[in-house]
Amino acid sequence: MRITVLGGGPGGYVAALKAAQLGAQVTVVEKAEVGGTCLNWGCIPTKTLIASADALRLATNLADYGIDLNGSVSPNFTKIMERKDKVVSIQVRGIRSLFKSWGITLVEGRGTFVSPTGIEVEKTDGTKEKVETDKVIIATGSRPADISSFPFDGEKIISSNDAVILAAIPKSLLIIGAGVIGSEFACLFNDFGTDVTVVEMLPRPLATEDIEVSEQLGREFRKKKIKLLTGLGVTKVESAPDGMHAFLSDGKEIIAEKVLVAVGRSLNSAGLGLEKIGVETASNGRIPVNEKMETNVAGIYAVGDVVGGMLLAHKASAEGIVAALNACGKATVMDYSVVPAAIFTSPEIGSVGLREQEAAEKGMNIRTGRFFFRGLGKAHAMGEISGFFKIIADAVSDRILGAHIMGPHASDLIHEVAVAMRAGLKAADIAGTIHAHPTLSEGILEASEDVHGEAIHLPKK
Ligand code: NAD
Repeated sequence: MRITVLGGGPGGYVAALKAAQLGAQVTVVEKAEVGGTCLNWGCIPTKTLIASADALRLATNLADYGIDLNGSVSPNFTKIMERKDKVVSIQVRGIRSLFKSWGITLVEGRGTFVSPTGIEVEKTDGTKEKVETDKVIIATGSRPADISSFPFDGEKIISSNDAVILAAIPKSLLIIGAGVIGSEFACLFNDFGTDVTVVEMLPRPLATEDIEVSEQLGREFRKKKIKLLTGLGVTKVESAPDGMHAFLSDGKEIIAEKVLVAVGRSLNSAGLGLEKIGVETASNGRIPVNEKMETNVAGIYAVGDVVGGMLLAHKASAEGIVAALNACGKATVMDYSVVPAAIFTSPEIGSVGLREQEAAEKGMNIRTGRFFFRGLGKAHAMGEISGFFKIIADAVSDRILGAHIMGPHASDLIHEVAVAMRAGLKAADIAGTIHAHPTLSEGILEASEDVHGEAIHLPKK
């Protein structure tokens, strides 16, 4: 079985490895670099920059830990960027060597369908190569969406891609959109000393997160002196000698050195020759697929951002595995019932399942349990006490329906609840599990106990 994967991001490269493990003869066509947006422009570069920002924040607060600093600390942005590039290149080499080890052929160039079983690749050196295949997995991802009245110029009006290759820390930054990207960059650049303003059309930041998380993030922004303007849009941006002038829908004007537009992503399905082979696309560029990740054309699968839904690397990888299994004849369906998410603001956010406002909209009968990082000895020892744990359970069956954690290591902590949900466990099951002390995971134990008003370390209600 010959399988060709179009796109080597977390959807595509994982699909390729899975298919190779299942014995297929696999080719990956990639126009840029393996690892895709996640590894080269998104998850990994931003988390590496955030690690530098965390180190700077810790160094700035060393006195809180009883450590005298005889000197000063300041970010060296060139070295910070070099470190980021090194981290990225280690991972890129890792994927390339996995490809080698599993006998996967990497064809570097832009691929387009000439037939359902033929892809023409325009290689980086200008030559063309035809790849003949039996099945195809499309994993072409997405790109930052711009605002047509003031498109990206890469210098003053920048995308999240431009933001991870900046030459210097901007003195001031206007971020349009307080979604995941806007909120992460707001915290990151604030840590580096940038004067950050965020303008968000909706009434609150991270509007799709649980309302308590979103409100707490608003408070964290205020503490950090990140200016957040909600319920507003930017109508016009003009360049002037003193910076970029942004005009808001309420008539206000903001001047900043750069404008970062983070208003969502556009899906990469155009220019692939899909119309030639009859693969349908929706009006926003999304490629509709069935539960086996197969498009309307037999033998052509699609995964990751390009199929829409949650634009998350791990969701793409999970879809890649399902597509590879089906392409190799192992019938499998995609299960989206438990998809944890991690947002790397400061503090971090981990979430899975039901949001409380969703439960209210649907009229569901739920119980919630809460606990706070400041109630944990470990959090005090670490000097990181802001944030909370929240568990949402069905009021009758006690089955866990969702969890929201905001605080240190929230992105790692959330997985205990994800596994519990996947196993159909009850809040009482977590509450009945001994959790090691002193750990941050005790917050999940206490929040689960609190679902029944039984948290040991909460005062009587
Ligand atoms: P998003 O959809 O998360 O947020 C965009 C925000 O911009 C929304 O809050 C929206 O209301 C606002 N907005 C839209 N148009 C606006 C306008 N004209 N003026 C003001 N506000 C406006 O999109 P994003 O932050 O660009 O992220 C893109 C995708 O990438 C998301 O799906 C996100 O989940 C994913 N992503 C995930 C992570 C992570 O999991 N840690 C990190 C980065 C990106």
